[in-house]
Amino acid sequence: RTITNHMPTAELQALDAAHHMHPFTTNAQLGKKGARIITRAKGVFLTDSDGHEIIDGMAGLWCVNVGYGRDSMAEAAARQIRELPYYNTFFQTSHVPAIALAARIAELAPGDLNHVFFASSGSEANETNIRLVRHYWALKGQPERSVIISRMNGYHGSGMGSASLGGMVSMHEQGNLPIPGIVHIGQPHWYAEGGDMTPEEFGLKRARELEEKILEIGADRVGAFIAEPVQGAGGVIIAPDSYWPEIQRIVDKYGILLIADEVITGFGRTGNWFGSQTLNIMPHIMTIAKGLSSGYAPIGGSVVCDEVAAVIGSDEFNHGYTYSGHPVAAAIALENLRIMEEEGVVEHVRDVAHPHLAERWHALGDHPLVGETKLIGMMGSLALTPEKGSRARFAADAGTAGYITRERCFANNVIMRHVYDRMIISPPLVMTTDEIDILIDRATLALDEAY
Ligand code: PLP
Repeated sequence: RTITNHMPTAELQALDAAHHMHPFTTNAQLGKKGARIITRAKGVFLTDSDGHEIIDGMAGLWCVNVGYGRDSMAEAAARQIRELPYYNTFFQTSHVPAIALAARIAELAPGDLNHVFFASSGSEANETNIRLVRHYWALKGQPERSVIISRMNGYHGSGMGSASLGGMVSMHEQGNLPIPGIVHIGQPHWYAEGGDMTPEEFGLKRARELEEKILEIGADRVGAFIAEPVQGAGGVIIAPDSYWPEIQRIVDKYGILLIADEVITGFGRTGNWFGSQTLNIMPHIMTIAKGLSSGYAPIGGSVVCDEVAAVIGSDEFNHGYTYSGHPVAAAIALENLRIMEEEGVVEHVRDVAHPHLAERWHALGDHPLVGETKLIGMMGSLALTPEKGSRARFAADAGTAGYITRERCFANNVIMRHVYDRMIISPPLVMTTDEIDILIDRATLALDEAY
C-alpha cells in the first residue's frame, strides 16, 4: 500500500502513531490529537494535510534560513548525486564538495578558525568536540585537562556526550547523564533568576561562576568551556551586556579552550555570519549545523582554529563519521551559502527584517499576558506572566501557559515554540516585512485567545 499526501489526515495520523517514534513526544500526545502533518512548503509558509497555510515562525527547528522550496538547492543535490553521490573523507581521500565547503566556511568564520571537521548534525559535532578537546590536551602533555564546563539549561544535542554538555535536567534524568568530566554553571537568565540585581550585576555574577568553578576544580584540570552565544532551546536567553566580556577574560586568563556552539546562532541568525561576531567573542572552536544547509540536508561540523588543528593533526585522530563531509550534503550547503551571499541574506536580517521585527515584537510587550520581550537579530522570546508589571511566573505549572499559547498559535496558523513559559520565534531569515506583519498579527491573536 502506498502512503501519500492525498490520504485523509486521520489515516495518516493513525499510521504515524502506530509506527513512527517521535523525538520529545509521548504516545498519549499522539494518540489524543494526532500529529499535524506537513505536506509541502514554499518561502516562509507550510501547508498541512488539511490544506491550511501556516506561517513558520521557527524556520523548522531554527534551520531553514533561506526559506523553503528553493529549486536551485534541488538542482545542486541532483547534480551532485549524478556526479558523485558518496565517497568518504577517511584515510587520505577527499572530494571537491567537502574541500570547497571547508574553504568557504574558513573564509566566513572569524579569526583563524580555518579548519572544519564535518559531521551530520550539531549533536555529532559536539561529540567530536568533547573528544577533540581531550585529545588536544593529551597531545599537549596535559591529559588531566579533561573537564569541560558548560551551562545549566544549555542545549548541545541528544548524544550521550552532547546531552551531557547540555544542561537540560529532563534529559539528564534519562540515561545516566551527565557522563564523567562535564560540569555545569548557572545561566545568565536575569529575568528568571536575577532577583534584585540589575541585569549587568547579574551578568557579571554568572560569568564569575566560571572562574569560581575553574578554581574549585583546579585550572590544570579544565580543558574547555562551551556555551551558545545566545541560549536557543533554553528559551532564547540573551545574556546581559556584562556577561561575554567577563567570560572572555576568564577563558583567556586560564588558557582554556572556548567552544561557541553556533548551531542556531551561525549563518546569519543574529545579523552577522556568526553570533560570536555579534557578541564580540573569539572562540577556539565553533559548532555549526542547521543554517549551514538551511536544513535541506543533514550536515554540521566543528570549525577549529589553526593551533588546535595543528596539534590534532600531529597524531591520527581516531574519530570520524561515514558521512563526514557527505558530498551531497556539502553541495547543498555550498548552494545555500551561495544564495545567502547573492541575496544578501545577512544584510537583510540586519538592515531590513530585524528593525521591523524588533518594532513589532517589542510592541507585544504591551500585551497583558507578556512580561518581557527579547530579540537579537531574528531570534526572539517573550515571557508569559500572570501578573503584568512583575517578573512573576505562572505558579501551578509554568509549561501549561506556554502549551496553551502554542496551541492557540497552531489554531491561528502560526508556528511558535514554547519553552516553559517563554514563547519563541526564529523565522526564516528571508522573511519580508509584510510576512513579519502576518507572523506578528497571528501571534497577537493567539495571545489574545490564551489570555
Ligand atoms: N547545539 C545547539 C545550540 C542546538 O540548538 C542544537 C539543536 O537544536 C544542537 C546543538 C544539536 O543539533 P542537532 O539536533 O542537529 O543534533
